[in-house]
Amino acid sequence: MTLNKRLYPPETIGIIGGGQLGKMLAQSALRMGYKVAVLDPSKDAPARPVCHTFIQADFSDKAALIELSELSDVVTYEFENIDAHILKTLVNNYYVPQGADTVLTLQNRTSEKNSIKHSGASIVPFAEVSSKENITAFAGEYSYPLIVKTATGGYDGKGQYYIETEEALKSAEIPFEDADFIAEKYIDLEREVSLTAARSADGETIYFPLQENLHRNQILYRTIAPARIDYFEKAKKEAEKIMKAMLFVGVFTIEFFIDKDGELYVNEIAPRPHNSAHYTIEACNISQFDAHILSVTNQPMPEVYQHQDAIMLNLLGEDLDRLDSELFEHPDWNVHLYGKSERKSQRKMGHVTILTDDIASELEKLKTSFEKEV
Ligand code: ADP
Ligand code: MG
Repeated sequence: MTLNKRLYPPETIGIIGGGQLGKMLAQSALRMGYKVAVLDPSKDAPARPVCHTFIQADFSDKAALIELSELSDVVTYEFENIDAHILKTLVNNYYVPQGADTVLTLQNRTSEKNSIKHSGASIVPFAEVSSKENITAFAGEYSYPLIVKTATGGYDGKGQYYIETEEALKSAEIPFEDADFIAEKYIDLEREVSLTAARSADGETIYFPLQENLHRNQILYRTIAPARIDYFEKAKKEAEKIMKAMLFVGVFTIEFFIDKDGELYVNEIAPRPHNSAHYTIEACNISQFDAHILSVTNQPMPEVYQHQDAIMLNLLGEDLDRLDSELFEHPDWNVHLYGKSERKSQRKMGHVTILTDDIASELEKLKTSFEKEV
């Protein structure tokens, strides 16, 4: 089914995935008056308490995904790793305005990076590798350090191998027999930024301000918005090239690297809500989640503006261990706890957004509160 249609409350939005992104999508949809159905394998999924219908099933359970689609007027997803075959069945039989092609391309780092390259956007040099000899050949062209990444299933730095030297390559244990890999030049980063956009089924596109991201242990640690570096127009140009090559509906985020020479490179694209745009909930006239619901229901898209500068900090399990008692002693912090049942040290349990007129002094203050003892 490809015909675009406009949906109105109280029609039902079906969301594949009930993690924190699914939860915040559901909250936006509920506020607008839609009904929400969620499918997730976990009985304690964060989105469960905020939806009308919850289907507990694996993402590979075709019958359950069809059940979700049957009771939904539009189907969307909070993550990109949906089984290709099932997704095609859903797209052919139900209203899934995001389609299958873009998400299937982005599921695999190799096809993702090839598509970005073919769009003409600037991308970090990479190559498919299936042996250490391949990596040595890549290093011969681009030198060390380099980073090896699994083509599928990686997130928050999982499945990545940083290779500093030829020596380090010898001792690296890369499971070539279990997965496909790419090698990528390691960029000496000046800054990381991301650009979040949303496009309705009819093609209206809006952009959020450029976000500046700091990662620790390859997990997003902090976002500052707007970025303290003037790259919005450059990033938007890259986004436009990519949008000519791939069809996007809904909210999506492009992650970028900026190297020490000021060159901007596309890193990867997430065709769903993104951690670096959580600040939009409090800091902008519409949030990335609102934008996604407006896109997939094919409503008119408002122009985006940001009321106040924002700092977003992720709350991992280890942060909660430190901050439990103190979290609510900061009345100026917008605290979000996702309601995950099990606390793990590196698991995203929530986030806080701090609105400020002075990013620099707020960052100083955070050194003695959020960041103390780190
Ligand atoms: P994931 O899918 O896990 O988010 P990314 O490719 O975005 O994977 O890598 C996570 C983080 O690791 C990046 O945001 C960046 O901080 C670091 N990183 C990844 N690739 C490179 C690279 N080629 N050069 C420098 N840093 C990198
Ligand atoms: Mg990333």
